[in-house]
Amino acid sequence: MLAWAEGYAKKNGWVLNPDKKILDTVIRGLVRNRKKFGEQYCPCRLRSGDKEKDTSIICPCIYHKDEIAKDGHCHCQIYYRKDMKRSQEENNR
Ligand code: SF4
Repeated sequence: MLAWAEGYAKKNGWVLNPDKKILDTVIRGLVRNRKKFGEQYCPCRLRSGDKEKDTSIICPCIYHKDEIAKDGHCHCQIYYRKDMKRSQEENNR
C-alpha cells in the first residue's frame, strides 16, 4: 500500500506526508478497510454503507485533487503538494 501511494504521489508530482506517524496511520487505515470491506476506503471519511455512493471515497477519493490544490494536502494528509511539505518542515525546525 505504501509503495502504491508513493507511486501515485510521484506520478502526480506530489509527495507523501513527511510525518511518518500520520502516514503510517493512514496507510494502516487503508489496508484495514481493504481487508475488511474489500476496497481501500478513505480512513478519514465515513462510509455510507451504500456501495455505489462509497465508490467516491475509495482512495484516491474524488475530492483529493481539489483538496491538494486548495489546502496543499488531501483530507487525510497523506498526499502533499511539494511546496507545502517544505513549509511544514520549516515550521517543525
Ligand atoms: S483523503 Fe482521499 S486521497 Fe487522501 S487518503 Fe483519503 S481517500 Fe485517499
